[in-house]
Amino acid sequence: MNPEPDLPPLTLTPRKSIRNTISVDVEEYFHPSEVQKYVHAGQWTSLPSLVEPQTRRVLEIFDRHGVKGTFFVLGWVAQRQPALVREIAARGHEIACHSFWHRLVYNLTPAEFREDTLRAVRAIEDACGITPRAYRAPSYSITRRSLWALDILAECGFTHDSSIYPIQHDRYGIPGFGRHPQTLTTASGPLVEVPIATVRLSDRIIAPVGGGAYLRLLPYRYTAAGIRRINQHEQQAACMYFHPWELDARQPRLASGWVSRLRTYGGLGSMAVKLERLLTDFEFTTLIAAHGAPESNPLQAHTAHT
Ligand SMILES: [Zn+2]
Repeated sequence: MNPEPDLPPLTLTPRKSIRNTISVDVEEYFHPSEVQKYVHAGQWTSLPSLVEPQTRRVLEIFDRHGVKGTFFVLGWVAQRQPALVREIAARGHEIACHSFWHRLVYNLTPAEFREDTLRAVRAIEDACGITPRAYRAPSYSITRRSLWALDILAECGFTHDSSIYPIQHDRYGIPGFGRHPQTLTTASGPLVEVPIATVRLSDRIIAPVGGGAYLRLLPYRYTAAGIRRINQHEQQAACMYFHPWELDARQPRLASGWVSRLRTYGGLGSMAVKLERLLTDFEFTTLIAAHGAPESNPLQAHTAHT
Protein backbone atom coordinates (compact mmCIF):
# COMPACT_ATOMS: atom_id res chain seq x y z
CA MET A 1 0.00 0.00 0.00
CA ASN A 2 1.32 3.44 -0.92
CA PRO A 3 1.46 5.87 1.99
CA GLU A 4 -0.25 9.24 1.60
CA PRO A 5 2.53 11.58 0.34
CA ASP A 6 1.27 14.61 2.27
CA LEU A 7 0.53 12.87 5.58
CA PRO A 8 3.83 12.11 7.38
CA PRO A 9 3.71 9.27 9.91
CA LEU A 10 2.90 11.00 13.19
CA THR A 11 5.12 8.75 15.31
CA LEU A 12 8.29 9.88 13.52
CA THR A 13 7.85 13.60 14.18
CA PRO A 14 9.33 15.12 17.35
CA ARG A 15 6.96 14.57 20.24
CA LYS A 16 7.76 17.72 22.20
CA SER A 17 7.68 20.87 20.13
CA ILE A 18 4.67 23.15 20.67
CA ARG A 19 4.00 24.29 24.23
CA ASN A 20 0.43 23.39 25.12
CA THR A 21 -1.51 24.69 28.10
CA ILE A 22 -2.30 22.45 31.08
CA SER A 23 -4.90 23.85 33.43
CA VAL A 24 -6.49 22.67 36.66
CA ASP A 25 -9.85 23.85 37.98
CA VAL A 26 -9.31 23.85 41.76
CA GLU A 27 -12.65 22.99 43.34
CA GLU A 28 -14.12 20.43 45.73
CA TYR A 29 -15.65 17.14 44.57
CA PHE A 30 -19.07 18.63 45.41
CA HIS A 31 -18.71 21.64 43.10
CA PRO A 32 -19.09 20.18 39.58
CA SER A 33 -22.39 21.11 37.92
CA GLU A 34 -23.30 17.43 37.61
CA VAL A 35 -23.00 17.07 41.40
CA GLN A 36 -24.73 20.37 42.18
CA LYS A 37 -27.95 18.84 40.85
CA TYR A 38 -27.89 16.72 44.03
CA VAL A 39 -26.02 18.91 46.57
CA HIS A 40 -26.94 22.56 47.14
CA ALA A 41 -24.56 25.29 48.30
CA GLY A 42 -26.08 25.30 51.80
CA GLN A 43 -24.69 21.77 52.33
CA TRP A 44 -21.10 22.51 51.25
CA THR A 45 -19.70 23.42 54.67
CA SER A 46 -21.09 20.20 56.20
CA LEU A 47 -19.23 17.99 53.69
CA PRO A 48 -15.65 16.82 54.27
CA SER A 49 -13.09 18.90 52.35
CA LEU A 50 -10.79 16.91 50.06
CA VAL A 51 -9.45 19.62 47.76
CA GLU A 52 -6.14 19.98 49.61
CA PRO A 53 -4.92 16.35 49.42
CA GLN A 54 -6.31 16.01 45.90
CA THR A 55 -4.52 19.16 44.70
CA ARG A 56 -1.29 18.14 46.47
CA ARG A 57 -1.31 14.97 44.40
CA VAL A 58 -1.56 17.06 41.24
CA LEU A 59 1.26 19.33 42.44
CA GLU A 60 3.49 16.32 43.10
CA ILE A 61 2.83 14.91 39.61
CA PHE A 62 3.54 18.31 38.01
CA ASP A 63 6.76 18.68 40.04
CA ARG A 64 7.91 15.22 38.99
CA HIS A 65 7.55 16.24 35.34
CA GLY A 66 8.89 19.77 35.81
CA VAL A 67 5.59 21.17 34.50
CA LYS A 68 4.09 24.54 35.39
CA GLY A 69 0.35 24.89 34.90
CA THR A 70 -2.49 27.35 35.31
CA PHE A 71 -4.66 26.73 38.38
CA PHE A 72 -8.14 28.25 38.13
CA VAL A 73 -9.03 28.53 41.81
CA LEU A 74 -12.61 28.76 43.04
CA GLY A 75 -12.97 31.80 45.32
CA TRP A 76 -14.92 29.70 47.83
CA VAL A 77 -11.92 27.37 48.08
CA ALA A 78 -9.41 30.25 48.30
CA GLN A 79 -11.35 31.70 51.23
CA ARG A 80 -11.30 28.41 53.15
CA GLN A 81 -7.94 26.98 52.05
CA PRO A 82 -5.62 30.01 51.64
CA ALA A 83 -2.51 27.96 52.47
CA LEU A 84 -3.26 25.67 49.52
CA VAL A 85 -3.43 28.63 47.12
CA ARG A 86 -0.16 29.99 48.52
CA GLU A 87 1.47 26.61 47.99
CA ILE A 88 0.30 26.40 44.37
CA ALA A 89 1.81 29.86 43.76
CA ALA A 90 5.00 29.05 45.69
CA ARG A 91 5.60 26.04 43.45
CA GLY A 92 5.69 28.39 40.45
CA HIS A 93 2.25 27.80 38.95
CA GLU A 94 -0.04 30.48 37.60
CA ILE A 95 -2.95 31.47 39.83
CA ALA A 96 -6.19 32.14 37.94
CA CYS A 97 -9.89 32.53 38.80
CA HIS A 98 -12.76 30.02 38.56
CA SER A 99 -15.55 32.30 39.99
CA PHE A 100 -16.59 32.36 43.65
CA TRP A 101 -19.76 30.27 43.86
CA HIS A 102 -19.37 27.99 40.80
CA ARG A 103 -22.66 29.22 39.33
CA LEU A 104 -23.41 28.97 35.61
CA VAL A 105 -22.76 32.38 34.04
CA TYR A 106 -25.78 32.21 31.71
CA ASN A 107 -28.04 31.87 34.76
CA LEU A 108 -26.70 35.13 36.28
CA THR A 109 -27.46 38.76 35.53
CA PRO A 110 -24.47 40.88 34.49
CA ALA A 111 -24.55 42.54 37.93
CA GLU A 112 -24.53 39.15 39.69
CA PHE A 113 -21.65 37.97 37.51
CA ARG A 114 -19.61 41.12 38.24
CA GLU A 115 -20.23 40.73 41.99
CA ASP A 116 -19.27 37.03 41.96
CA THR A 117 -16.12 37.70 39.91
CA LEU A 118 -14.90 40.57 42.10
CA ARG A 119 -15.59 38.52 45.24
CA ALA A 120 -13.50 35.65 43.81
CA VAL A 121 -10.65 38.01 42.88
CA ARG A 122 -10.62 39.43 46.42
CA ALA A 123 -10.61 35.94 47.98
CA ILE A 124 -7.67 34.88 45.79
CA GLU A 125 -5.77 38.10 46.48
CA ASP A 126 -6.37 37.68 50.23
CA ALA A 127 -5.13 34.08 50.07
CA CYS A 128 -1.90 34.57 48.13
CA GLY A 129 -1.38 38.25 47.30
CA ILE A 130 -1.74 37.61 43.56
CA THR A 131 -4.37 39.27 41.38
CA PRO A 132 -5.57 36.65 38.89
CA ARG A 133 -5.49 37.74 35.23
CA ALA A 134 -7.00 34.64 33.64
CA TYR A 135 -10.60 33.48 34.15
CA ARG A 136 -12.51 30.26 33.53
CA ALA A 137 -16.26 30.09 33.94
CA PRO A 138 -17.82 27.14 35.78
CA SER A 139 -18.81 24.47 33.25
CA TYR A 140 -17.75 26.64 30.28
CA SER A 141 -20.94 28.65 30.80
CA ILE A 142 -19.92 31.61 28.65
CA THR A 143 -22.10 30.76 25.68
CA ARG A 144 -23.83 32.81 22.98
CA ARG A 145 -26.37 34.06 25.55
CA SER A 146 -23.70 35.16 28.05
CA LEU A 147 -21.03 36.75 25.81
CA TRP A 148 -21.64 39.98 27.77
CA ALA A 149 -19.53 38.36 30.48
CA LEU A 150 -16.39 38.92 28.38
CA ASP A 151 -16.88 42.70 28.64
CA ILE A 152 -17.14 42.41 32.42
CA LEU A 153 -14.02 40.25 32.65
CA ALA A 154 -11.97 42.87 30.76
CA GLU A 155 -13.54 45.58 32.92
CA CYS A 156 -12.45 43.64 36.04
CA GLY A 157 -8.84 43.58 34.82
CA PHE A 158 -8.65 40.13 33.26
CA THR A 159 -6.37 39.78 30.23
CA HIS A 160 -7.17 36.13 29.40
CA ASP A 161 -10.29 33.99 29.37
CA SER A 162 -10.64 30.26 28.85
CA SER A 163 -14.40 29.78 29.22
CA ILE A 164 -15.46 28.90 25.69
CA TYR A 165 -15.69 25.34 24.42
CA PRO A 166 -16.35 25.52 20.66
CA ILE A 167 -18.48 22.35 20.56
CA GLN A 168 -22.12 21.30 20.80
CA HIS A 169 -22.92 20.06 24.33
CA ASP A 170 -26.09 19.83 26.40
CA ARG A 171 -24.88 22.32 29.03
CA TYR A 172 -22.29 24.53 27.31
CA GLY A 173 -20.41 25.30 24.14
CA ILE A 174 -20.42 27.75 21.22
CA PRO A 175 -20.43 25.68 18.02
CA GLY A 176 -18.70 27.64 15.26
CA PHE A 177 -16.61 29.79 17.61
CA GLY A 178 -12.93 30.07 16.62
CA ARG A 179 -11.14 26.90 17.69
CA HIS A 180 -7.78 28.56 18.31
CA PRO A 181 -6.65 31.38 20.64
CA GLN A 182 -7.59 34.85 19.49
CA THR A 183 -7.65 38.37 20.89
CA LEU A 184 -11.23 39.58 21.29
CA THR A 185 -12.15 43.25 21.31
CA THR A 186 -14.58 43.81 24.18
CA ALA A 187 -16.29 47.03 25.26
CA SER A 188 -13.70 47.27 28.05
CA GLY A 189 -10.58 46.38 26.09
CA PRO A 190 -8.80 43.40 24.56
CA LEU A 191 -9.12 39.91 26.01
CA VAL A 192 -7.20 36.85 24.83
CA GLU A 193 -9.65 33.97 24.48
CA VAL A 194 -8.09 30.52 24.77
CA PRO A 195 -10.73 27.91 23.83
CA ILE A 196 -10.51 24.31 25.03
CA ALA A 197 -8.84 21.96 22.54
CA THR A 198 -10.93 20.43 19.79
CA VAL A 199 -10.26 18.67 16.50
CA ARG A 200 -12.09 19.24 13.24
CA LEU A 201 -13.21 15.90 11.88
CA SER A 202 -15.18 17.34 8.95
CA ASP A 203 -16.77 20.61 7.82
CA ARG A 204 -19.54 20.12 10.33
CA ILE A 205 -18.09 17.89 13.02
CA ILE A 206 -15.87 19.30 15.76
CA ALA A 207 -14.79 16.78 18.41
CA PRO A 208 -13.79 17.75 21.97
CA VAL A 209 -10.23 16.86 23.05
CA GLY A 210 -9.28 18.99 26.08
CA GLY A 211 -10.92 17.82 29.27
CA GLY A 212 -10.43 15.46 32.15
CA ALA A 213 -13.62 13.59 31.35
CA TYR A 214 -12.35 12.57 27.90
CA LEU A 215 -9.00 11.52 29.36
CA ARG A 216 -10.77 9.49 32.07
CA LEU A 217 -13.50 7.91 29.98
CA LEU A 218 -11.75 7.20 26.67
CA PRO A 219 -8.52 5.38 25.84
CA TYR A 220 -5.39 7.54 26.26
CA ARG A 221 -4.72 7.40 22.52
CA TYR A 222 -7.86 9.50 21.85
CA THR A 223 -6.49 12.51 23.73
CA ALA A 224 -2.93 11.97 22.48
CA ALA A 225 -4.00 11.72 18.83
CA GLY A 226 -6.10 14.88 19.24
CA ILE A 227 -3.21 16.92 20.64
CA ARG A 228 -0.82 15.62 17.96
CA ARG A 229 -3.28 16.59 15.29
CA ILE A 230 -3.61 20.14 16.69
CA ASN A 231 0.17 20.52 17.17
CA GLN A 232 1.38 18.93 13.96
CA HIS A 233 -1.35 19.53 11.38
CA GLU A 234 -2.48 22.95 12.60
CA GLN A 235 0.72 24.14 14.34
CA GLN A 236 -1.40 25.30 17.27
CA ALA A 237 -1.20 24.81 21.02
CA ALA A 238 -3.88 22.71 22.72
CA CYS A 239 -5.56 23.89 25.93
CA MET A 240 -6.21 20.97 28.31
CA TYR A 241 -7.94 20.94 31.68
CA PHE A 242 -8.88 18.60 34.51
CA HIS A 243 -9.88 18.78 38.18
CA PRO A 244 -8.02 17.49 41.28
CA TRP A 245 -11.04 15.36 42.24
CA GLU A 246 -10.67 13.45 38.96
CA LEU A 247 -7.62 11.67 40.41
CA ASP A 248 -9.41 10.49 43.55
CA ALA A 249 -11.22 7.17 43.13
CA ARG A 250 -12.19 7.13 46.82
CA GLN A 251 -14.17 10.37 46.89
CA PRO A 252 -17.78 10.27 48.14
CA ARG A 253 -20.22 9.53 45.31
CA LEU A 254 -22.76 12.36 45.57
CA ALA A 255 -24.11 12.41 42.01
CA SER A 256 -26.83 9.95 41.08
CA GLY A 257 -28.43 8.95 37.81
CA TRP A 258 -26.33 6.94 35.40
CA VAL A 259 -25.36 9.85 33.11
CA SER A 260 -24.17 12.06 35.97
CA ARG A 261 -22.37 9.15 37.64
CA LEU A 262 -20.60 8.15 34.43
CA ARG A 263 -19.59 11.73 33.61
CA THR A 264 -18.32 12.37 37.13
CA TYR A 265 -16.92 9.08 38.35
CA GLY A 266 -16.05 7.04 35.23
CA GLY A 267 -12.35 6.21 34.91
CA LEU A 268 -11.19 7.92 38.13
CA GLY A 269 -8.81 5.05 38.89
CA SER A 270 -6.92 5.38 35.60
CA MET A 271 -6.61 9.17 35.57
CA ALA A 272 -3.26 9.59 37.37
CA VAL A 273 -1.48 7.17 35.04
CA LYS A 274 -2.98 8.83 31.96
CA LEU A 275 -2.04 12.28 33.24
CA GLU A 276 1.57 11.15 33.79
CA ARG A 277 1.65 9.85 30.22
CA LEU A 278 0.26 13.11 28.90
CA LEU A 279 2.93 15.12 30.72
CA THR A 280 5.60 12.77 29.38
CA ASP A 281 4.47 12.83 25.76
CA PHE A 282 3.71 16.55 25.33
CA GLU A 283 5.14 19.93 26.32
CA PHE A 284 2.96 22.00 28.64
CA THR A 285 3.11 25.44 30.22
CA THR A 286 0.80 28.03 31.76
CA LEU A 287 -1.91 29.81 29.84
CA ILE A 288 -0.34 33.27 29.96
CA ALA A 289 3.16 31.89 29.20
CA ALA A 290 1.75 30.19 26.10
CA HIS A 291 -0.41 33.04 24.86
CA GLY A 292 1.12 36.33 26.03
CA ALA A 293 -0.49 39.62 26.91
CA PRO A 294 -3.29 40.98 24.70
CA GLU A 295 -1.41 44.14 23.71
CA SER A 296 1.56 42.11 22.48
CA ASN A 297 -0.51 39.28 21.07
CA PRO A 298 -0.06 38.95 17.32
CA LEU A 299 -3.36 37.13 16.94
CA GLN A 300 -5.99 38.89 14.89
CA ALA A 301 -8.44 40.87 16.99
CA HIS A 302 -12.13 40.00 16.79
CA THR A 303 -15.11 41.73 18.31
CA ALA A 304 -16.59 39.61 21.09
CA HIS A 305 -20.21 40.18 20.09
CA THR A 306 -19.97 39.27 16.42
ZN1 LIG B 1 -15.52 23.95 37.87
